[in-house]
Amino acid sequence: MKKIAADFDELDSVSRRKFLQYAMSGAATILMVQMSGAAATQGRGKGWKQMSTKHQYAYVIDINKCIGWGGCVRACGQENDVPEGVFRTWVERYVLTEDGVYVDSPKGGSEGFEPVSAEIQKKAKRSFFVPKMCNHCENPPCVQVCPVGATYKSPEGFVLVDHDYCLGCAYCVQACPYGARFINTEKHVSDKCTWCYHRVKKGKQPACVEACPTGARIFGDLMDPESDVSLIFNDSQWMVLKPDMYTSPMCFYVELPREVV
Ligand code: SF4
Repeated sequence: MKKIAADFDELDSVSRRKFLQYAMSGAATILMVQMSGAAATQGRGKGWKQMSTKHQYAYVIDINKCIGWGGCVRACGQENDVPEGVFRTWVERYVLTEDGVYVDSPKGGSEGFEPVSAEIQKKAKRSFFVPKMCNHCENPPCVQVCPVGATYKSPEGFVLVDHDYCLGCAYCVQACPYGARFINTEKHVSDKCTWCYHRVKKGKQPACVEACPTGARIFGDLMDPESDVSLIFNDSQWMVLKPDMYTSPMCFYVELPREVV
């Protein structure tokens, strides 16, 4: 697997507060206009519009490769000290039956999945697993509703929360259409997947990507045409979740059945 770029000079030199100042400048206005045009919901690479930043990180998830093992969920929990009962990433099982769609995610899929009941099995036409997490949307409603600017988007595309500023008001939890946020009851702040920003900064992969034994989760920089994520992104038919919300998610799903979207 190709090592991901570790050059975060841009973010390191533009701290959260400086980024807010930057966001009010004319340069950022140009960037935002470009971002608003990037609302591709499905495609083969073409729909995504290159932004004027050095990096643009993204996730590609290959549904055909996910086996519902749950190691990714466990690795995330350990890496990020996630309290019991809540998840920064989780895996859902979908069973398409004659009567409709059966969905479950016991313990976030962290311990794998027991077979479905005999009754559901009898009617099942297809089943598959869908890993989920924060989509680090290009147009994130969670950022828009934060009253104190504690949640923000970095120039490289990470949607992050500054816990020193977060009030724990949960507006962002309600605003996220993907259920990706929760209130961390130990820290009393909003919490969610950071794409393991602390690891990526050091040139490592996110913990869930490293833990996946089948390569179902691919992460990297779309600005690097040779990165694993660019290659699969440009070569595959992908879709995003809830395209009608116009959030422009940066998690792209390969072979995602329409029943999930
Ligand atoms: Fe915000 Fe939810 Fe989009 Fe993540 S998935 S950036 S929490 S709106």
